[in-house]
Amino acid sequence: MNRQSEVGSLHSHVSQRQSGFEPAQSTVHTPQGSILTTSVEKMVQWARRSAIWPVTFGLACCAIEMMAMAAGRYDVARFGAEVFRGSPRQSDLMIVAGRLSRKMAPVLRRIYDQMPEPKWVISMGACASCGGVFDNYAIVQGVDQIVPVDVFVPGCPPRPEALIYGIVQLQRKIDQQRMSA
Ligand code: SF4
Repeated sequence: MNRQSEVGSLHSHVSQRQSGFEPAQSTVHTPQGSILTTSVEKMVQWARRSAIWPVTFGLACCAIEMMAMAAGRYDVARFGAEVFRGSPRQSDLMIVAGRLSRKMAPVLRRIYDQMPEPKWVISMGACASCGGVFDNYAIVQGVDQIVPVDVFVPGCPPRPEALIYGIVQLQRKIDQQRMSA
């Protein structure tokens, strides 16, 4: 096989992956084996969204559903987000699970500030997202007043599947994030 036909044969075996959810952009099959080609940005996005570490932090009843999500029945390990960390310095996701009192708000902000970049926030449940049934002076009427929120998960409480869906939406968002120059 001459050089030109060999290159043509390789190109015919290139399969472009359309999904932005895969780290590889194309696969080249050669007689010696398969080669994956991709960009640094794709690899970084893939690594970040495949190993989300939530900070261990629960505020109210929604936190019970969050714990259920991490347990065996729902097994969020399937999505690479089961490693809840005891320190904000080792975490890149804050799940605000439950109502946030005004007294607690500075503490939540401090924990968020102690998390390294890049970091993300999921607002879990009606209380965290808008105060829910607690329309009063003691409860923050939406945690986006305290920290930037990436994904809102509705419900009172949201089921574990809903929170998993929120994490998948966050993964899609991470896949779209561009690395700054
Ligand atoms: S949304 Fe419902 S379950 Fe969650 S903290 Fe508020 S009252 Fe509790």
